[in-house]
Amino acid sequence: MRIPYIAGNWKMHKTASEAAAFARELRGQLDGAPHTVMLAPPFTALAAVSDVLKDSSILLGAQNMAAEESGAHTGEVSVLMLKELGVSVVILGHSERRHSYGETDTLINAKVKLALAHGLSAILCIGETLDEREADRVTEVVERQLEKGLAGVSQDALSRVVIAYEPVWAIGTGKTATPDDADSVHRVIRNKLADLYSKSAADAMVIQYGGSVKPDNVVGLMAKPNIDGALVGGASLKTELFVPIARFDRA
Ligand code: PEP
Repeated sequence: MRIPYIAGNWKMHKTASEAAAFARELRGQLDGAPHTVMLAPPFTALAAVSDVLKDSSILLGAQNMAAEESGAHTGEVSVLMLKELGVSVVILGHSERRHSYGETDTLINAKVKLALAHGLSAILCIGETLDEREADRVTEVVERQLEKGLAGVSQDALSRVVIAYEPVWAIGTGKTATPDDADSVHRVIRNKLADLYSKSAADAMVIQYGGSVKPDNVVGLMAKPNIDGALVGGASLKTELFVPIARFDRA
């Protein structure tokens, strides 16, 4: 059985002290929640949020990491640094990394493999742009991102990978894919995972939806058979929005 998984990506919001105060508030309302819950603050707030989340059920995530363990990589953050701070999950291939910072499938794949080799879990983000959707290329794009992003990942390590389907046109825009539209892409993703690995591996995988998830659309999305959770951006920054999403009831 797949356990629903709600992740909050705080992006470049909140200083370390603001993040710690917010995490304390969320811990009070989400520790022991029935779904898996993860918070991904900015790098500079990881240590403070890690202290707040210690011994809780809430996972600490990072929003990115370098493709190398160490070395002359000015401005980058290594998997070893993340692990020491108590990070157990890293978001990789977010559309903002792909489209604003030029991250390629090859680079993202190197990061996925490094994270897994160090025992972290990875949330691999995939999704089409509006132009790609309008050109009827959704299947081709998500299948390519999946195949290249997971190249060289064993079936064993796959159990520590979560896929987040995030149509780029729905991120931060207030436009959400309808539950049916999202579910049909999630089905494409699950079928591709079955081709790449096995049906049982694909059936076990958590596939999150991301793109303007809010308290009023979460239940409809999560009611779909192939949608197992959400990667939440804007609505993860306010307690009154994130708590009801993270505690959604199955319809
Ligand atoms: C995201 O950044 O992953 C995201 C889904 O953002 P939002 O919820 O704001 O659309």
